[in-house]
Amino acid sequence: MRIAVLTSGGDSAGMNAAVRAVVKQAIVRGCETYIVREGYEGLVRGNLEANDNGTANGANNDQSGVCTPPRPEDQGVEANLRFGYGGLLRDGEGDSTDPTSGKSLKGRYIVRVGWDDVRGWMGEGGTIIGTARCAAFRTIEGRTTAAHNLIKEGINALVVCGGDGSLTGADKLRAEWPQLVADLLSKGSITAEQAEMYKHLMIVGLVGSIDNDMAMTDLTIGAPTALHRICESMDNISSTASSHSRAFVIEVMGRYCGWLALMAGVSGGADFVFIPECPPTADSWEDEMCAVIKRHREMGKRKTMVIVAEGAHDKNLNPIKPDKVKDILRERLSLDTRVTTLGHTQRGGRPCAYDRVLPTLQGVEAVNALLESTPETPSYMIGIHENKISRVPLVEAVQQTQAVATAISNKDFATATRLRDPEFKE
Ligand code: ATP
Repeated sequence: MRIAVLTSGGDSAGMNAAVRAVVKQAIVRGCETYIVREGYEGLVRGNLEANDNGTANGANNDQSGVCTPPRPEDQGVEANLRFGYGGLLRDGEGDSTDPTSGKSLKGRYIVRVGWDDVRGWMGEGGTIIGTARCAAFRTIEGRTTAAHNLIKEGINALVVCGGDGSLTGADKLRAEWPQLVADLLSKGSITAEQAEMYKHLMIVGLVGSIDNDMAMTDLTIGAPTALHRICESMDNISSTASSHSRAFVIEVMGRYCGWLALMAGVSGGADFVFIPECPPTADSWEDEMCAVIKRHREMGKRKTMVIVAEGAHDKNLNPIKPDKVKDILRERLSLDTRVTTLGHTQRGGRPCAYDRVLPTLQGVEAVNALLESTPETPSYMIGIHENKISRVPLVEAVQQTQAVATAISNKDFATATRLRDPEFKE
């Protein structure tokens, strides 16, 4: 099997550990491994210079981009493309040369990698292979080009690490694959032999998302690190808030998912938390919040902390913004109140220990799932449930995730909350 791995959507800590695990496990299991730079953008762009003399490591593309079957010497453990980080830069940035062959890696988005290429990636933040939001991949033309590029590189299995949008795209690619192959054949872009050889594409999804917003898994890659960052910030804010007896309104990420806000509220000792799935039920959230904070102050608290998820709103879906909360605390409780928006500090930086362990275990499982997949099995999403790595049908997880957003926009907060329950089953 030739396995490619890509990261897509918003970056999250732990994505590099996931890519590293996929690459290493794939090699251990006797597969050839490729990384795709810049998410689906890289799949659509493909290897712009690939047809001159094959892929960067001299793999099996001939002058016309037509693949030959894998060579026996290409199987198994190898580390023949030591391009280092420089090779993974975008076009025009820095040194993009494959030191083994001396060939330029510019314009090459699908690159074969070996064991050493992912050395040292475990503790790196963000995603070294790059991520992007790719409009072209949302179109059938874009996905046809992506399919052609995969076939040109001889790739028949894909691991996608991203959020629900990225996994939706992955599922579409697999569902459409037979048609895409037929179209490419009818246009003469691939040979009948290629159409036969690549008639199936196996896909597995890993969930990289700091929001922990995916259904059917207890935790997503990057969420624990983001929570650590928020906790650290809350600890820092806490001491200055206490010193001056101030109130702080802290905005954290989470458009449709209040997990970060809720867990930050618990671990940082917040007074009040606003999350999208479960808005305050009182007619006036202002009254409800002020009553709670007044009580806490009367009990002797010198500081006040309110957490607002970026997607927070009242029960009529009117947004609840940190500045509005600040004004209310100032006007109604006379609290000296400041707003802190944590922004991208939640996303970036080194992964915490758990965001190394989780993606490593899941990356290994992703490769095992690919190797056990048949044309009849569904595409799996690798999750974790009750501390055990799990495989669930990718489509079901994505549909359930998207149902939360739908329930929220229908003001059906009971359903939104129920769907968030890890035990939820239809
Ligand atoms: P995040 O949670 O960080 O937003 P995400 O994976 O949900 O991550 P999106 O921007 O929704 O991020 O999706 C990433 C990419 O996946 C898109 O730019 C697009 O290329 C592809 N994609 C998303 N939805 C679809 C879809 N319905 N059909 C095809 N491709 C899609």
